[in-house]
Amino acid sequence: MFKKILVANRGEIALRIQRACREMGIKAVMVYSEADREAKYVKLADEAVCIGPGPSPLSYLNMPAIISAAEVTDAEAIHPGYGFLSENADFAERVEQSGFAFIGPTADSIRIMGDKVSAKQAMIKAGVPCVPGSDGELPEDPAQIRRIAKAIGYPVIIKAAGGGGGRGMRVVHTEAALVNAVQMTKAEAGAAFGNPAVYMEKYLQNPRHIEIQVLCDQHKNAVYLGERDCSMQRRHQKVIEEAPAPGIPRRLIEKIGERCVAACKKIGYRGAGTFEFLYENGEFYFIEMNTRVQVEHPVTESITGVDIVRTQIMVAAGDKLPFTQRQINTQMRGHAIECRINAEDPYNFMPSPGRVTMWHMPGGPGVRVDSHVYNNYFVPPNYDSMIGKLIVYGDTREQALARMRTALSEVVVEGIKTNVPLHQDLMVDAKFMEGGTNIHYLEQWLEHRKKR
Ligand code: ADP
Repeated sequence: MFKKILVANRGEIALRIQRACREMGIKAVMVYSEADREAKYVKLADEAVCIGPGPSPLSYLNMPAIISAAEVTDAEAIHPGYGFLSENADFAERVEQSGFAFIGPTADSIRIMGDKVSAKQAMIKAGVPCVPGSDGELPEDPAQIRRIAKAIGYPVIIKAAGGGGGRGMRVVHTEAALVNAVQMTKAEAGAAFGNPAVYMEKYLQNPRHIEIQVLCDQHKNAVYLGERDCSMQRRHQKVIEEAPAPGIPRRLIEKIGERCVAACKKIGYRGAGTFEFLYENGEFYFIEMNTRVQVEHPVTESITGVDIVRTQIMVAAGDKLPFTQRQINTQMRGHAIECRINAEDPYNFMPSPGRVTMWHMPGGPGVRVDSHVYNNYFVPPNYDSMIGKLIVYGDTREQALARMRTALSEVVVEGIKTNVPLHQDLMVDAKFMEGGTNIHYLEQWLEHRKKR
């Protein structure tokens, strides 16, 4: 096993990885920007290295700074967390070329999955069902683009091959709007992702977002850890996640899970990964794969009893997966829900960074809080507004909902605004409580709230 790991991330996930390292008797080196100097996981770290100023291009995205931090501290491996460099194939390559283990898949896997066009092509080859769409990147010729859209059938969605974080997508309802939309998405994609390639998919009207978590070792073993329902989204970004997905028959989940495992084996995938699907009328349609740990991994940990971050570290060190699919299936139980806590106005969603004068988090059976925040912590304005996650577990979904309501009622955050009031309203919403809301539900609910 590794003796020392460098954590190339910040915030709650940096703390999550530090905790896993501690438990495993591994020393964790934390890197931080000048804006994160106050972070407690930095102060409590075995070792910490400042890698640059607040803006992430100068610190958390600065590959040479991170690799030299690993060199000077004699770390053996680098855990990239999520976001930042976690899905950057060049980074994975440079990490390994510099003699460190990358806690994630190979650079080749990241490269294939990082481009949504090549990812879809790989999945079609591996027998994973995909959203009907263009055969790869869209051509330049407007007549050809129109022909493709006609064959797929309107509405269609234009998506950037290099897109991520819910950006670089445009829905088109009519032929008249098509070519212009393609050009605009191309221009945006070029500027935002450095890759102007776009592709086209059928725009599914009322799907749910269902994703399958996988874990693979370097000895050709792979398992799936059930599914997560992440349909509660605002601007294509997840707000609430849960596992299992309400109302989806187990045999359908098993079928798609087995397909994902087979695909992993076929592409020689290693580490943790997530296959994201849209689910409509009993069918799954692959949209993308995330080649890293995800924000919502704790709901899966809660229902399977598997420590995903620990397992990532184990398989990166060359260990075999310590469980079989059969064991996972038999030990899976209960229901888990996660609310992402964001430093933002719960009504207009304006970011609300600043000093947290009071931070009181809930507890009790089945309650987990993953957050790096503490009393008097300063939320820097430089990064994503997510400052923590509240995860509850219950024997049933009803119990999980009740626990979440209780837990949310105990939360006290002063000094900054958070979206806790939004979560409180959603946890008593009749449709959400019923389960199975689609990806548009939260946006529609917010529209309705505005009118009240
Ligand atoms: P990103 O990498 O930016 O997260 P995804 O491809 O995962 O992009 O899509 C994000 C979200 O956008 C999905 O969860 C879904 O809400 C919506 N979306 C993407 N593709 C489609 C589609 N073909 N039809 C309907 N909605 C879609």
